Amino acid sequence: MFITDRMSAMEGFDAAELVRRLQASGLRGRGGGWFPAGRKWNAVRVEGGEPLVVGNGAEGEPGSVKDRWVMLNRPRDVLEGVRLAARALGATEAVIYLKGSFAAPAAALERAAAEVALGGVVLTVQRGDDSYIAGEETAVLEVLEGRRAWPRAKPPLPAAVGFRGRPTLVQNVETLARVPTAIADPEAFRASEGTLVSLWGRIRRPGVYEVPLGTPLHRILDEHGEGAPDGVGMVFPAGPSAPPLAPDQLDTPLHPDLLRAAGSGLGTAAILVIGSRTCPLAVGASLASFFERESCGQCPPCTVGSARLAQALRAVENARARPADLDALAETAGFMSSHGYCAHCRTAAASVTGLLDRFRTDVAAHLEARKCPRGGGPADPFAVDSPERRAIEATLDGR
Ligand code: SF4
Repeated sequence: MFITDRMSAMEGFDAAELVRRLQASGLRGRGGGWFPAGRKWNAVRVEGGEPLVVGNGAEGEPGSVKDRWVMLNRPRDVLEGVRLAARALGATEAVIYLKGSFAAPAAALERAAAEVALGGVVLTVQRGDDSYIAGEETAVLEVLEGRRAWPRAKPPLPAAVGFRGRPTLVQNVETLARVPTAIADPEAFRASEGTLVSLWGRIRRPGVYEVPLGTPLHRILDEHGEGAPDGVGMVFPAGPSAPPLAPDQLDTPLHPDLLRAAGSGLGTAAILVIGSRTCPLAVGASLASFFERESCGQCPPCTVGSARLAQALRAVENARARPADLDALAETAGFMSSHGYCAHCRTAAASVTGLLDRFRTDVAAHLEARKCPRGGGPADPFAVDSPERRAIEATLDGR
């Protein structure tokens, strides 16, 4: 999966060759956007100046624990990725930024940093804000500059104007950990690329698994998760960051482009399984409440819009809504879909409306019969301390 034993083979590559090989490998960012890493490196490289490398370990997506898994289990790979990025960009400084509560991953990185040569790169491991939005790449820069975690309007991108105006590479820690393998043998990497998934929810064996890209979702649920004890009601392949898939879509391959084509997404691969007896509208209300709770408050369309979505979903769940309320919800979501400094506003609109669209029969039953046809009780998987989130977080303890 990862390597640290082929580092010497890469010492002969100059900066341009490192970037060329990374581009040839096709490595894409694992922070949720799946943007080609080589293009990101190149964008920083052409800026010149005094570049900075920032490893983003501020994982905050509900159910996602894979970045903490990497930092705890593969800290040397993360550091080797940082070292190679710094060499390719001509940077002499690097920061790995984590949430305030990530004491154990920070300690693992610091232990590894004391043992490996970083080629003259001065590395700081910094813990900061614990809020969800603090993991957004420009919010990370704001925190590093001593301000509150409010995302910046883009453009400019951090590659051009990042930390204190310097060209800055902000790269997710799993992505960095895959850089050495990608650069060592780009063709082999491209041919057999895997990714880490955090499998959680109503599944027998929640945990972090390495899975080849292209694996059908049902195989991940069955072979790694050992199945859903009461059948699958829906699956969120990207946690809250994309609409869920219905049970008849589980042959969709785990791939960002193919999941998008199926009307969902991969995001940070925090795959949430919802049981077949769970009320989809209760899950929708949980989803909308998550976006309301985690809006940072900077952009009114996001703050007000996500509150309205949450209110509407709770009304549908509790059979208090009228069909006209869904029209108002669609109008709010339509407005949100083109606003916000960061993706939170647009993602809230897309995820919530995508769920309602996919589970139209359940929505109609709630509106007309004024009850849940599945007989499902309350469900709030996206709540901060939900049993589902506690179960996946607990898997890190037995790593
Ligand atoms: S879109 Fe939402 S989360 Fe993002 S900056 Fe605006 S208010 Fe904050």
